[in-house]
Amino acid sequence: MATNRTFTMLKPDAVADGHTGAIIKIIEEAGFKIIAMKKTLLTPALAGKFYEVHAERPFYADLCQYMSSGPIVPIILEKDNAVADFRKLIGATDPSKADEGTIRKLFAKSMTANAIHGSDSDENAAIEGSFFFAATEQF
Ligand code: ATP
Ligand code: MG
Repeated sequence: MATNRTFTMLKPDAVADGHTGAIIKIIEEAGFKIIAMKKTLLTPALAGKFYEVHAERPFYADLCQYMSSGPIVPIILEKDNAVADFRKLIGATDPSKADEGTIRKLFAKSMTANAIHGSDSDENAAIEGSFFFAATEQF
């Protein structure tokens, strides 16, 4: 995948609360183009695989349970400097520390139910995008 792409996922809290449209509007207005998108549901095992890097962390079990608790919306996005700009747009992991106007400040409920995911590197953006979308869907 090109380095001007990132991967995001609207998490179960944001989708269940009906914020899908509002969040996508913010993302598009910030200049990101939607490359691939769908609504799907992770099993606990698949959530565990997606967040495998956190397997040893104390919050891992809660995170996997939460991420499989309802539908999510995975999306591949494109924009210059996509990974860094998108992390700025979503704000800090802990919503109480997120800047005003960021997606997490607006929509996150807690450290776990924090509305949205954003890849932390070009390499992980490619890996995570391919976790949800076939190569033929990433055009
Ligand atoms: P994400 O990867 O979801 O975009 P992030 O990169 O800001 O979030 P990570 O450190 O990768 O943060 O953590 C992944 C997810 O695990 C967080 O989004 C959050 O839902 C959860 N998480 C991280 N740290 C904690 C914590 N201390 N307590 C509870 N949940 C946590
Ligand atoms: Mg992360």
